[in-house]
Amino acid sequence: MADASIVRYNAQKKIAKLFSPFITGLSMQEINQYLADTLRQLRHDRSWSLDRAASECGVSKAMLGQIERGESSPTVATLWKIASGFDTSLSSFLEPAPAELRGVTLRSADALRQRPTADAMLMAPLFPFDARYGFELFEFTLLPGYERLSEPHSQSVVEHVVVVRGVMELLVRGVWQRLGEGEAVRFAADQPHGYRNPTSAPAVFHDLIHYPPGSDSQSR
Ligand code: MN
Repeated sequence: MADASIVRYNAQKKIAKLFSPFITGLSMQEINQYLADTLRQLRHDRSWSLDRAASECGVSKAMLGQIERGESSPTVATLWKIASGFDTSLSSFLEPAPAELRGVTLRSADALRQRPTADAMLMAPLFPFDARYGFELFEFTLLPGYERLSEPHSQSVVEHVVVVRGVMELLVRGVWQRLGEGEAVRFAADQPHGYRNPTSAPAVFHDLIHYPPGSDSQSR
């Protein structure tokens, strides 16, 4: 019998197929709305104009406006730029930090996995950023041929990449490192870095992103 004290998120929702183009946890509309509200609130909190936000994030003013109106589903790459520009966590744009009941939280990557727009990177925010713990944990899936170069994240952000399926390559200190299942790398993510999948099968990895104590990574 299920332990009622364990908090289950989305466990009842339809299981996402790996290649499903749409999010099956929250609807695309719900996600866009949450993103829109979060971005507008963040900009309001900072008293940033759209121009200021555009220059901080390196994302066009038109794109930011569309996102704030819930008219656009940005790629993971764009979301990352916005998160870094606001010095905040990626997951804070995806859903509120989940409340815990008696210290136990159960999450399902199958239920959470989502694929923004036409991106060839799927993401499942297993544990969204929580200020008590200072990290967020994602499962990312790189479809064959995917490559992304990432701008540096905020200062002192550290990533822990652990390959759980397939083979991927990670760009650290200017060198692409090949990583197989079970291999793990920790690196300073306040430097340019990148992720790619040179194989013909999906590569799945966990990414634990640690934010320095006292950073403003959770805005709400
Ligand atoms: Mn990164």
